[in-house]
Amino acid sequence: MTKSFETKVVHNKWKQEAGAINSKTTPIYQTSVFSFQSLNEMESYFDGEAPYLYSRNGNPNTDELGQAVAELEGAPSGIATSSGMSAILCGILAAVGHGGHIVAADDLYGGTFQLLTKELKEFGIDVTLVSFDDPDAVENAIGERTELLYSESVTNPFLRVENIKNLVDMADRYQLKTMVDNTFATPYLLQPFQEGVDLVVHSATKYIGGHSDVSAGVLAGRNDLVEAARGKAVALGANLSPFEAWLAHRGLKTLALRMRQQAENADYVAESLRNHADIQHVYYPAYVSEKGNGAIITIELSERCDMDAFFSSLGWIKIVPSLAGVETTVSYPKGTSHRALTEEQRQKIGINARVVRVSIGIEGAKDIVEQLTSAVENSLSEE
Ligand SMILES: *Cc1c(COP(=O)(O)O)cnc(C)c1O
Repeated sequence: MTKSFETKVVHNKWKQEAGAINSKTTPIYQTSVFSFQSLNEMESYFDGEAPYLYSRNGNPNTDELGQAVAELEGAPSGIATSSGMSAILCGILAAVGHGGHIVAADDLYGGTFQLLTKELKEFGIDVTLVSFDDPDAVENAIGERTELLYSESVTNPFLRVENIKNLVDMADRYQLKTMVDNTFATPYLLQPFQEGVDLVVHSATKYIGGHSDVSAGVLAGRNDLVEAARGKAVALGANLSPFEAWLAHRGLKTLALRMRQQAENADYVAESLRNHADIQHVYYPAYVSEKGNGAIITIELSERCDMDAFFSSLGWIKIVPSLAGVETTVSYPKGTSHRALTEEQRQKIGINARVVRVSIGIEGAKDIVEQLTSAVENSLSEE
C-alpha cells in the first residue's frame, strides 16, 4: 500500500527501542553519552548491534529527524546536523575530494555563496558559478576535475525554479554527482532525489521545523554519500542537539498542512498584489508542483514608495531576516541576505533598494493583503 505524503509525514518508520515505555511521541534522549553493563555490551556498538555510543556520533532524536525527512524525499538515508550550512558542508565534503571542482548556480543562498567561494578553497575545492538557465554555460564550466553540480530547487529571492531533469541529464553525461538545496520547495512540493539527484539538503530551520524556534539541517540521499557525510559530521562536530531535533521533528508533522495553507495564501497574495499601481513587480513562480508554488513572494515597490515608511507601517507583519514560519514576515535582501555583495553584484542579479521578500504565513489571506497594501499606501510620499 503506498501512503500519501500527508500520511507519511505523521507516521514515519521510526521504531522505539524494544522494552521502552509506550510513549506516543519519541522521548527526548537528552544525553551526551550512552551507558553499558559490560565490556562485551560496549563492544557490541562497534559490531553494529548496539545503536548508540556518544551523541556526537548519533542520537535517537537526530536519527529520527534525518530518517523522517529522507523518507519524505524518497531517499534511503538521511542525517540531521546543527544547521543547514553544516549539512551543506558535510554533503559537499562527502561528494567532492581535495583538488575537486564544483559547478554551481550563480544565484545561490548568501551563506552557500560564501561557503563555496571562500571557505571551500581552504579545503582544496574550487568552484565555478554560472547561470543554470544556460546549459551551454554549465557544460563549458565542466572540466577534468569537476565532481559535482550544485543548485537549489527554488532560488532566493527571485524564485527561479531549477530544471532538475536537465541538471541530472547533464551530470549523467559527464558522470558527475548532483546536490540540490530543497529548502524553499520542501519535499511536500518537490522530491529531487526521485528525479535522480544524489544528495538533497535542507535548512530545517525553515519549513521542516516551520515555527522559527530551531536551527537545524538535514541531508538525505544515496546511502554511500550520506554515510560519508555522517562521518564528516562526526569528525567536524556538526551534530544537532537532541532537543532541537525533537522540536524540528515535531514541527515536521504539520508540514503538509502548513505548506498547503501557505501556498494557497501565497497564490492569493501574489494575484492580489499584481495589479497594484505601486508594486512594480511580483516575483512568484508560475509552476513549482501540482501541490502549489511555495510560499515566498518577492515584490519590488515603485519609486514613489519610501522604504523606511513601508517597513515601519507593517503592523503585525514583522521584519525578520529569515523565512518559513507560520507567521507572515518580510525581509530586506539588500540589507541582510545580500548585504555582503557589492552594489554592482546586487544590481546584476536584480536586487535593488526597493526589493522586499515576503514569507507568507497561515493567517487569513485577505488580512495579509490588507496589511501589505496599507503599508504601501503609508509609504507613498506626500507631494
Ligand atoms: C537558510 C538557508 C540555508 C542555511 O541554513 P541555516 O539553517 O541557516 O544554516 C541554506 N539554504 C537556503 C536556501 C536557506 O534558506
